Amino acid sequence: MSHMQINTDPAALLRDTYVQVDLAALAGNMDAIRAMVGPDVAVMPVVKANGYGLGAVGIAPTLLAHGACYLAVATLTEALELREAYPDAPLFILGHTPDRLLPIVVRERITQTVFTAAQGKLLNEAAAALGRKATVHLKVDSGFHRLGTENVEELFSVCQEPNVEVEGIFSHLALAGEAEDAKQYNRFMAVVEALEARGVRFRYQHLADSIAAVDYPEYRMNMVRPGALVYGLRGFHKGYVEVKQAISFRTRISQIRTIQKGEGVGYNYVWRAPEDTRIGTVPFGYADGYPRNMRDKGYVTIRGVKCPLIGVLCMDQCMVDLTGVPDAVEGDIAIIYGDGTNNTMSIQEACELAGTNKNEIVARLLPRPPRVYVNG
Ligand SMILES: *Cc1c(COP(=O)(O)O)cnc(C)c1O
Repeated sequence: MSHMQINTDPAALLRDTYVQVDLAALAGNMDAIRAMVGPDVAVMPVVKANGYGLGAVGIAPTLLAHGACYLAVATLTEALELREAYPDAPLFILGHTPDRLLPIVVRERITQTVFTAAQGKLLNEAAAALGRKATVHLKVDSGFHRLGTENVEELFSVCQEPNVEVEGIFSHLALAGEAEDAKQYNRFMAVVEALEARGVRFRYQHLADSIAAVDYPEYRMNMVRPGALVYGLRGFHKGYVEVKQAISFRTRISQIRTIQKGEGVGYNYVWRAPEDTRIGTVPFGYADGYPRNMRDKGYVTIRGVKCPLIGVLCMDQCMVDLTGVPDAVEGDIAIIYGDGTNNTMSIQEACELAGTNKNEIVARLLPRPPRVYVNG
């Protein structure tokens, strides 16, 4: 287990602005996904980008305890952070690892995505030098054109390396519509079948991210790779699974004052008080990963009331109009992102206001606000 300190008490934090993670919601989401796919489909939660902002190290034990077959990350750096905390956790790198770093992957017993004969050879050599096997999954480019290959020879050559265990094969959908997705599925299966015809056997075949895992039961094969869904962010259309948003973002009012009609607030005085106005300062800003373009659209929720952001958002602080909540006092909790109940801004609403997607809203949360894990 981890030697790292994982915060579980908001009162013990060194800052009022923090990301709160509901571990019970996370556990419930994992259970719901496993129930949806059934016992014959492995679930590999994706914890890249610091666990979509929740903190990969902090959520790993919950995910593993609730049936994660692997923890998937994008980069070697992300894998090593988890390896340091959890010496025995099964880790999977979805992305490309540069040649020179492949020996580290083998040394740290990380399962690597691979799609070239050359990398197969390097992994084989690194494994031989360490007296063990490298474990890989082959990446097929079925049309997304991001990573992988459709070249069967190239992939077959990886399968022939004596110190490389080819445990699985996978691809990724562009989700460009049912017809396009079906084409990708067929291209993927053509590669799988060509390799099987040559005697290769894969323990795992996988194609589905969160949306595909819900909307396309026929593409689950025997492993799914949900990211957003694990965190309770819903993107599916056809299917349904009950998941709960596991992340919220909170702070407390640091100062309250009343300003007079006509006075400006913040840089360039882009906001001026239309009448005498009670305003509050809240200590979060774009350097915490909150979108700066939330100006004129964003709000925080104090005592169940939406309080609009006023003026431009600063790096570390912003100001809000407290007109709607006359009983607010300094130290009151302000919910920046909530689950959408009680007048809070859900991640879904935040992404619509900021003109992005849900994954970007959470992935851009920076390390500066501490993470706190509740209901564990
Ligand atoms: C990020 C990623 C996922 C998870 O995506 P979600 O949309 O968050 O479910 C799955 N597979 C691959 C290859 C990815 O890069």
